[in-house]
This record gives sequence, C-alpha cells and structure tokens, in this order.
Amino acid sequence: MAFALSIVTLEEALEKPGCAICRLEHEAAIRWIDTLLWENTNDPATRKPINNAYGFCPEHTRMLVAIEISNSGPVLGVNIIYSLLAKIVSQDLKKVRSQPQAQTRFSKVLRKWGEKFFQRKISIILQPQQRCPVCEMVEQSGRNILSILFEVIEAKDQKLIEAYQRSNGICLQHLRIGLENYMVRYPKSADFLIQDTINRLDTQQRQMLEYIRKHNWAYRDEKLTPQERIAWLRTLTFFTGYPAEKFNHRIDEF
Ligand SMILES: [Zn+2]
Ligand SMILES: [Zn+2]
Repeated sequence: MAFALSIVTLEEALEKPGCAICRLEHEAAIRWIDTLLWENTNDPATRKPINNAYGFCPEHTRMLVAIEISNSGPVLGVNIIYSLLAKIVSQDLKKVRSQPQAQTRFSKVLRKWGEKFFQRKISIILQPQQRCPVCEMVEQSGRNILSILFEVIEAKDQKLIEAYQRSNGICLQHLRIGLENYMVRYPKSADFLIQDTINRLDTQQRQMLEYIRKHNWAYRDEKLTPQERIAWLRTLTFFTGYPAEKFNHRIDEF
C-alpha cells in the first residue's frame, strides 16, 4: 500500500500546473543534488556513478551550479567534482590514439571486398559506463510516483481522482511509462487514465480548431471562449509536461 505521505505529496503536486510527475521528478533532482553538495561531495560511493557517467547531463549540470551558487556562493562542490572529471577524461583521452592499421594480407583482401562497409564502421570513443546519475534517480523516482498514482486510482480514492481530474493530467511520456509498467497490475486505473486523456485531447482538439476558425476574417465577430484561448497550452503541457507559463515569447539564448 502506498504511504499516506506520498499520496499527500502527489495530491499537492496535482493542484499545481503542469504534469505532477514531472514536477515531483524535478523536486527529487533538486533534493538529490542538494544532499550531494551538503554531505556527499567527498563520498567515493556517491562520486563513482558521477565519474562513470563522465559527469551530469547538461540540464543537471546547470541545476548543480544553480543550487550551489544559491546555497553557498563559492562553487567548491562543482570544483571538487569536475576537477576529478577533467583528470579522468584527460587520462582516458590519452589512451585514445589512432593506431596505424597493420596491413596484413587478410585485412587487404577484406578491404577489397567491402570498402564501403569498412568506411561506415564507427568505433565508440569515450563511452560512459552509465547515464547521468540524477537522470537515473529521477526516472526511478518517477516510476515510484506513477505506481502510487495507479495504485490509489485503482483503489477508487475519490479525493485523489477528483484532484487528478482538476489537474492538467500527466504528460505523454509519463502516461506511456505508467501504462508500460502498471497497466497489467492496475487495469482499472489504466482504463481511467486512458479514457481521461482521450477526453482531454478530443476536447482540446475541438477547441484548437475553433481557435483557428475564429481567427478567420469571416468569423471575426465570434469571440473565443476562455477554454479555446488556452487549449493549445493544455495540449503542449500534455506533450511536454511543462506548466503553461513555460510557453512564452522568450527565446533562451545559448
Ligand atoms: Zn510528466
Ligand atoms: Zn541528468
């Protein structure tokens, strides 16, 4: 049975805009990095997966820096983690040297037979042993929250079901992961989420078509309803998980 605390956390996230699972994953990433910076920067067991992954993915690298700067000012944790990573990559790079191919008679024959095949062959260089550890932790955390959502809906928890119906719903990616992992164990919950998503998408599609139609000069006197104004935002939230306010005029500079 899901923990009461997790259910409350989920209900609270459902009251906020965007996909609740994406939101809780984001919060889990912040907590993980926060703990890393406060307690575990020098812990070899914590550092190993970071080193194995050649550091964090770009998104979580930015999060690491943002959290450290907003917490403490000097970026000591970043310096500790990335000075070792710089050393590791430098050492690994020294092992990558282009070796002159031994011109054996056999290799010459093979090359004659399949020049194009050999040209296409790509060797993998500096392959990380694992993915960004925050991404991995976040994915596991997302699956755990999804299992709670499925379990609680299956148990017909009316409070949570109503909170879900009021929410923006879960995003496409989390719907897919949830169905792949929990559809067999929680079939009624899967049916509910599938039908709920179909209803939302069908309604939003109609509203977006009305948005387009009412922007036609011939129908200029017909006013858009509030729902028709934001149907595209609801739809983008479904496809990305982001809350509506993330979609604005600002183009991020590199
Ligand atoms: Zn999501
Ligand atoms: Zn990551």
